[in-house]
Amino acid sequence: MKVLVINCGSSSLKYQVLEMEDESLLCKGLVERIGIEGSVLKHEKAGEDKYVLQVPMDDHKDAIGHVLNTIVDPVHGVAKDMSEISAVGHRVVHAGEKYASSVKITESVMDALEECTDLAPLHNPPNILGIRACQELMPNTPMVGVFDTAFHQTMPAESYIYAIPYEYYEKYKVRRYGFHGTSHKYVSERAAAMLGRPIEDLKIITCHLGNGASVSAIRYGKCIDTSMGFTPLEGLVMGTRSGDIDPAIVTYIRQKENLPQGEMNNILNKKSGVLGISGISSDFRDIEQAAEDGNERAQLAQRVFAHKVRFYIGAYMAEMNGVDAIVFTAGVGENDIGMRDIICQDLSNLGIKMDLIRNKVRGKETVISSDDSKVKILLIPTNEELMIARDTVELAGLK
Ligand code: ADP
Repeated sequence: MKVLVINCGSSSLKYQVLEMEDESLLCKGLVERIGIEGSVLKHEKAGEDKYVLQVPMDDHKDAIGHVLNTIVDPVHGVAKDMSEISAVGHRVVHAGEKYASSVKITESVMDALEECTDLAPLHNPPNILGIRACQELMPNTPMVGVFDTAFHQTMPAESYIYAIPYEYYEKYKVRRYGFHGTSHKYVSERAAAMLGRPIEDLKIITCHLGNGASVSAIRYGKCIDTSMGFTPLEGLVMGTRSGDIDPAIVTYIRQKENLPQGEMNNILNKKSGVLGISGISSDFRDIEQAAEDGNERAQLAQRVFAHKVRFYIGAYMAEMNGVDAIVFTAGVGENDIGMRDIICQDLSNLGIKMDLIRNKVRGKETVISSDDSKVKILLIPTNEELMIARDTVELAGLK
């Protein structure tokens, strides 16, 4: 049984086809520059060279049409015809307070997602376009929506309510939602499997450290807190996002610099984070290189980033009255050995001890704490697409 997973951005689209009998990846690809000159589809069938298709793609429907043609292509494809694709799973960023888990897509689900576009104006519209395009091109194939916010819906009110006038929550749904939920859920389930214990017995802190980054506190399988908030801007320092700052800074800098409407938003989302501190790059590999070469602001960016991760780990240990496992995942979490070292340094009084030799590893599911560490430190590559495909199989009634 084959499942197609679609992740639509505003001008790009990622996809995978998985064989769900053994959960193997059959092919994956990326379409870039949708609706812009130079549209390109890059397709990779497992074990084969990349196939690149350069044709104009005016909109998401055009792009998905080319994706579907490629999937059934006699040479590069992985299915004889479209009837072999049993269901489609769509990644959707924001489901507001409406959904606490994935759902089979119906017209009323589409209405609910439309209602949420206000909350995620950059992300939900392309997600919706992707679903609509698939519905038109595959009218008889069941579709499932998997939401970044859903896993965090179990947070208690004290974690998600901001201390601003309550009417803004009532009127505009201003509250903390959290993101990367599919990843936090996946790695927490893998952590329980690696420890050979039921997730209902475990307290886990998951650190999704990529270009966007967030930490979650997962008690007995349920998220009770996460560092991202109303938008993905809150929480950790990120590649280009500031994370937590004193909100008074916004008006102060806007006045001092006489900035036009909206510019502060741009600065906090695109010009801050490790890029803002270092002035070098948002890519942690460049920061690491510059830091090794002695660049002090790159070194400072690393320390500020690590400080914030440690800050949240400590906070979540307090919230859960301890922790059994800390998980590192996503681009930085899976690959940046030095950053994991700094984050876990000098935490032995909290029962957290990294094994510096075991930690010299990248992108592999493994234990990196020392044998006498009370808290297990785990490296777990995330796999949001697999999680989406699993939910899709279940909700499309294919199991
Ligand atoms: P996103 O999905 O949010 O774009 P990813 O999880 O793909 O992010 O992570 C991307 C980040 O991972 C990049 O900014 C890059 O700095 C970092 N990264 C990837 N490989 C390495 C590495 N070997 N060492 C340090 N950082 C790395």
